[in-house]
Amino acid sequence: MKKTIYDFTYEQLNTWLMDKGEKSYRTKQIFQWLYRRRITDFAMMSDIKQSLIETFNENFVIDPIKLKQRQASKDGTVKYLFELQDGFLVETVLMQFDYGKSVCVSSQVGCNMGCTFCASGLLKKNRDLSAGEMMAQVMYVQKELDVRDERVSHIVIMGTGEPFDNYDNVMDFLKTVNHDLGLAIGARHLSVSTCGIVPRIKQFAREHVQYNLAISLHAPNDALRSKLMPINQAYPLSELMDALKEYSTLNNRRITLEYILLKDVNDQPEHATQLSKLVKGMNAYVNLIPYNVVDEHGFRAVDVASALKFYDKLMKLGVKSTLRKENGGDIDAACGQLRAKAEGKL
Ligand code: SAH
Repeated sequence: MKKTIYDFTYEQLNTWLMDKGEKSYRTKQIFQWLYRRRITDFAMMSDIKQSLIETFNENFVIDPIKLKQRQASKDGTVKYLFELQDGFLVETVLMQFDYGKSVCVSSQVGCNMGCTFCASGLLKKNRDLSAGEMMAQVMYVQKELDVRDERVSHIVIMGTGEPFDNYDNVMDFLKTVNHDLGLAIGARHLSVSTCGIVPRIKQFAREHVQYNLAISLHAPNDALRSKLMPINQAYPLSELMDALKEYSTLNNRRITLEYILLKDVNDQPEHATQLSKLVKGMNAYVNLIPYNVVDEHGFRAVDVASALKFYDKLMKLGVKSTLRKENGGDIDAACGQLRAKAEGKL
């Protein structure tokens, strides 16, 4: 299996080309071919000499994914199921908002975090995705949008997988997305979401990048959170909150706390009260998310009226929050649903 050339950051490609005796302006040319003109074949690089094109062909592919399935929702959400070169399947979602077009990228094949409400966890992790396999998901969507002269403006790493369990590849991917000669998407339009791997949050805090950090919180006390999310047994809320405060201090950036509303589980008034105590004094806001039901897990979604009640309670307690509207409800847009179905697990 050949690597994809999308795996390289600008600096890595530059080093690779230097080793081959090339001049450094080649790196710029090649990045432009890949990310501006978005070529599908190395032979299209008309200002690159034949011998180098042959070297590329011997060592790399451009596109390491094949479309297996595509579902489009009435609200503009599009869900893609891709096959990787070794046959594994990953999902990607395009979401259309007033502010732009956001691609939700998968970072691993399956996931080992075992969150009890999530469809991704139905399939254990087979392997990490390379930086280029994440990039290829975005490039596929961007090439589709090119026909309409539209562009991907935002990226969230909220597909299948735990990005902080594949830290280096995720950082390389974001670097290329953000690079002026890459996709040039602003750092503040890029978001990483983690279930709360504390050492990686601390490492991320020291990168001093402007990407958004989102934390899947989902419960305001340790007993409940440990039941819903096994990661909490390794890194309880006190450690998580300390790491987040450290991140805020070092970066002066607001953190998003994601909170799925699960009926009769974490949606009671006392949960709102506990949540307000937990986030007090933090530079954070709570994003309330409607639950996308995964039949296997037995959790139920909260109706709109109850969600609004929880939201009002938080607001009264002085917690900044938003209530996210559901996208793609008429397709299998919940994390991991399309793939789990394709693999016969749903
Ligand atoms: N592993 C990372 C990123 C992937 S999950 C993380 O845990 O943050 C992206 C977000 O979707 C997380 O907040 C996750 O908890 C949430 N999620 C998972 N299953 C969901 C479902 N069925 N409905 C709504 N949100 C879900």
